[in-house]
Amino acid sequence: MKNIILFGKPGAGKGTQAVFLRDHFNLIHISTGDVFRYNIKNQTPLGIMAKQYMDNGDLVPDEVTIQMLEREVDKKPDAAGFIFDGFPRTISQAEALDGFLSKKQMSIAATLALDVDEDILVSRLLSRGKDSGRADDQDEEKIRNRFAEYNAKTAPLIAYYTAQEKFHAIDGSRSIEAIADHLTRIVDQL
Ligand code: AMP
Repeated sequence: MKNIILFGKPGAGKGTQAVFLRDHFNLIHISTGDVFRYNIKNQTPLGIMAKQYMDNGDLVPDEVTIQMLEREVDKKPDAAGFIFDGFPRTISQAEALDGFLSKKQMSIAATLALDVDEDILVSRLLSRGKDSGRADDQDEEKIRNRFAEYNAKTAPLIAYYTAQEKFHAIDGSRSIEAIADHLTRIVDQL
């Protein structure tokens, strides 16, 4: 079973590469951002709660995010493996994920980090926001706040997964195809 974390700042290309890896390796793709957006669209209590954080570019509290992720994994008992996209984003999420997976005799095989400069990401996100209408992609101040959240709360995961010898940094400024090739070579060896 190959369970992979796609890691990187907002706009780094996690979603694009997750879809490629999902199809190539027959894995289940879980994007916590997509699950939140689905709940917002359907105006569920979870969506209504999450929206106030997401609109400002803040992280949704750990407890609800962890419970939601566990529910998504439990929906797919026959999966050949999972791609976690946008999760974990804090040390407590990472610890909860390790504990949850180990209860199921599962573990993370690798954390694949897409590395891209913040200035490139800002222009990517602003252009994505024009097409998607995502509130958090349309305002540079909110985008910068998401980077601040990443730098304060998510960046410590680099040391967490490096200590487990699972962290792979990848230059995410190259073409989509070049990055997909690089990721495929890494995942093939897991
Ligand atoms: P994304 O689509 O991954 O960029 O996520 C969009 C927004 O959803 C983030 O800015 C957060 O507000 C929220 N979100 C997604 N995943 C998480 C997570 N693992 N922990 C907390 N908040 C999250």
